[in-house]
Amino acid sequence: MGLEFYTSRLADAVNWARKYSLFQYPFVTACCGMEFMSVWAPKYDVARFGAEFPRFSPRQADLLMIVGTITERQGPVLRRIYEQMCEPKWTVAFGVCASTGGFYQNYSTMPGADQCIPIDVYIPGCPPRPEQVLDGLIMLQDKIQEKRGFVQLREKREHDAVLQATGKLKVIP
Ligand code: SF4
Repeated sequence: MGLEFYTSRLADAVNWARKYSLFQYPFVTACCGMEFMSVWAPKYDVARFGAEFPRFSPRQADLLMIVGTITERQGPVLRRIYEQMCEPKWTVAFGVCASTGGFYQNYSTMPGADQCIPIDVYIPGCPPRPEQVLDGLIMLQDKIQEKRGFVQLREKREHDAVLQATGKLKVIP
């Protein structure tokens, strides 16, 4: 009981630090890029959320911002970038094109980046307003704190599977 209490408090503290130190890798492909740049300009002060530093190497980033239309040919590239990022990592689909393919209904446009990688937060809008982006960022921070990010949930599932296999976790049917 005591050990559980301390490890969960430690995890809360670590997640608190993680949510205020996001290093984003911007995968910018289209017109949403202009809005992305305006959000990260001084007026909206993303530094309040600890997410102001872009990193142009996926190995130094833990937040993949998918900004703009993704084509079928770009899918494998996006997947590779995602795989090169260290864990734990999070993803945000910025705008309707990254979320659903937007108004493009053709053979070359991917109907959403979630066709090739898991997405934690979808931000609607064409392009999204800066306030929507900040809302999305706050939603992501809540997910990180509550361990509801995709990678965090996967880690929990794997951890639980190990505990079940060793008999330390009983599943109630
Ligand atoms: S959502 Fe709109 S602004 Fe953003 S990339 Fe698509 S068409 Fe361009």
